[in-house]
Amino acid sequence: MTSPALPDTFRALLLTKEEGQAVHAEVTTLPVGDLPEGEVTVRVQASDLNYKDGLAVTGKLGIRTYPMVPGIDFAGTVLDSRDERYAVGDAVTLTGWGVGERHWGGYSELARVKADWLVRTPARFGAAEAMAVGTAGLTAMLCVMALEDAGLKPEAGDVLVTGAAGGVGSVAVSLLAARGYRVVTSTGRVEEEGGFLRGLGAAELLHRDELSALKKPLEKERWAAAVDVVGGETLAGVLASTKYGGHVAACGLAGGMQLPATVMPFILRGVTLHGVDSVQCPADKRQRAWDRLAAELPQALLDHGVQTAQLEDLPRLAGEILAGQVRGRTVITLE
Ligand code: NDP
Repeated sequence: MTSPALPDTFRALLLTKEEGQAVHAEVTTLPVGDLPEGEVTVRVQASDLNYKDGLAVTGKLGIRTYPMVPGIDFAGTVLDSRDERYAVGDAVTLTGWGVGERHWGGYSELARVKADWLVRTPARFGAAEAMAVGTAGLTAMLCVMALEDAGLKPEAGDVLVTGAAGGVGSVAVSLLAARGYRVVTSTGRVEEEGGFLRGLGAAELLHRDELSALKKPLEKERWAAAVDVVGGETLAGVLASTKYGGHVAACGLAGGMQLPATVMPFILRGVTLHGVDSVQCPADKRQRAWDRLAAELPQALLDHGVQTAQLEDLPRLAGEILAGQVRGRTVITLE
């Protein structure tokens, strides 16, 4: 827990907002004294891009306090620690907890955070690989855990993943296929990303319009379970077409936050809807999810499901992820 001299300055993507103006995002050099309060200072080696980062960088997240350094995830090594659990040189990862929303985040060479928010980076992963997982991968694993804790097994039948070509979706496809599930994917990019999804283990591809077109309270029973990142009419269609006794894990709103559904799947088919949150997920469950990710995440996801970019690319990438144009996971390298 010694304190080597911290650098005097660090580079970060800084969001600023003048009264009545749009949010401005620019890579800026800042004095180390600008870092927020926290017990552990981390040399960030990698961050990543999530849907929520897209909202933050484009000014759509409803951040209350500017200036803000966005980036809801980071991985790196401890430079300075006032907490006995972490020592200089430890490899650490952070996802969620409001970092990058209320507390300066990972689009930065340095981050200072509460020790309680950190996990040790699993030995299998370097910083970039931990960020190939990131909030999206953690959330995908929490969805799988929700379904399996409820009793789901591969012999129950197909498992549907919506928004499959995005971050959460692609990791969910990969994890489920590796566990022996027959995975049906729903995507708006069947032509462009069909090969990618089959490479991750998708057994069947649906166009997303097929699900949002399901308007009856109960439709033909098709999946034993589903992971939904889309919400809106898609989630309503998923619920209506889930088999008797099935389970649906809902974690996202890429298609809308409304849920124009009826109670019929719940009361006539015993379907269960599981809400999944990664941001405030308790530490023990979080650790269990990371342990499982380290043990189970197929290498193919890390080899083929990840693109890399730099801080300077983020304003462009933020628009692209909100437009549903980003494939799989994007790692931001800071080394
Ligand atoms: P991505 O943008 O990487 O993936 C979202 C995918 O949803 C897109 O790739 C696209 O997939 C599909 N999609 C996008 N727009 C629409 C639309 N209008 N209608 C239908 N489908 C659409 O984002 P993430 O994977 O990072 O996040 C996905 C969702 O999960 C977001 O809503 C995010 O806020 C939420 N989330 C929640 C977390 C939690 O803790 N609960 C944690 C992480 C994310 P395709 O091209 O295959 O159709």
